[in-house]
Amino acid sequence: MGTSPARPTQSNASRMTPFERIKAVCRGELPDRVPLVLLLREFALKYAGVRFSEAYSDPDTYVRAQLKVLQDFRLDAVCDLFVTPAVDEALGAKIVFPDDDPPWIPEPSVTTAADLEKFVSLDPLSQGRMPYLLDIVTRLKREVGPDIPVMAWPSVPFRTACMLRGSQDLYRGFYRDPEFISDLIEACYEPCLAYGKALIDAGADIIFTSNPTASTGCISREHYETYAHATTRDMHRALKSHGAEIIIFHPCGQWHDRLDLLVELEADVLHFDKVEIQSFKSEFAERCVYMGNVRTVDTLLSGTVRGVEIETQNCLEKGADGGRYILSADCIVPRDTDPAHLHAMADAIERHGSYS
Ligand SMILES: [Zn+2]
Repeated sequence: MGTSPARPTQSNASRMTPFERIKAVCRGELPDRVPLVLLLREFALKYAGVRFSEAYSDPDTYVRAQLKVLQDFRLDAVCDLFVTPAVDEALGAKIVFPDDDPPWIPEPSVTTAADLEKFVSLDPLSQGRMPYLLDIVTRLKREVGPDIPVMAWPSVPFRTACMLRGSQDLYRGFYRDPEFISDLIEACYEPCLAYGKALIDAGADIIFTSNPTASTGCISREHYETYAHATTRDMHRALKSHGAEIIIFHPCGQWHDRLDLLVELEADVLHFDKVEIQSFKSEFAERCVYMGNVRTVDTLLSGTVRGVEIETQNCLEKGADGGRYILSADCIVPRDTDPAHLHAMADAIERHGSYS
């Protein structure tokens, strides 16, 4: 885009709904403006004055928080109560639910092959917290209607295997007991897929998956290919067949030596953390839409309004050229982010968010 990009006219802007806008980007078309998709969970709760424990006990508190950020920050999608380890819990993990922090897993629940035999076939409609999370998706969809997509998060098998075994022990297992590790990841596949399908049945339009445990800082490219790649791709493919309109994958952290593999994951969109916009687009834009990557910590959490404006404009200038770009932060937006910083992102789209 040039130095004085055309501002979308009101008639242009009102022509497309948020979901149409995102779908157009995924088809390689140039919609009225760049969509804004943010992962707002802890930020949305704090902004709405809701504690995590309330979000896990009254679904409407979470739904209201999502509706509030949707409207106030002019977003193009809402999020389910994502990264809740509900499948991990159904497979035996103990989950700690703090009063006002995200849930976490304190210790491994799988240590030997015998533990895999305890896995039961997963019924997302009846087990653990899954029905509660699915109900949130249904309520969100009912509230936002067809024009706004609901994004929902199922874990991918490699990530769930890391949660059940403990990441460090799983990585050691590549050398000590590769067959057990492969069996564990394989055993996580059907449960993760079953929950993903249930999310779609409940009303999710966009399936959002992520992996913070297979970046270059965690495992080698070779180990990624051997253990993480195929199950993620197959799950994406199966969820598409089940009706997911769009799949977004978030490779959390640094993945620079395996970008060629990421574009084979059959995700429509890659939500990047540290991958540079122009270098990715110049090589892979035909394969996947780039989503990102205003820095969450340095810029959104610790920066200034002016800093957010500059970095957002910079992302838009690099990303919007030629389309295939969605504006986002580089990861989950931190809870203590100044709301003025998200207003600054939305304002920057109004001023600089037309495609060229
Ligand atoms: Zn991340």
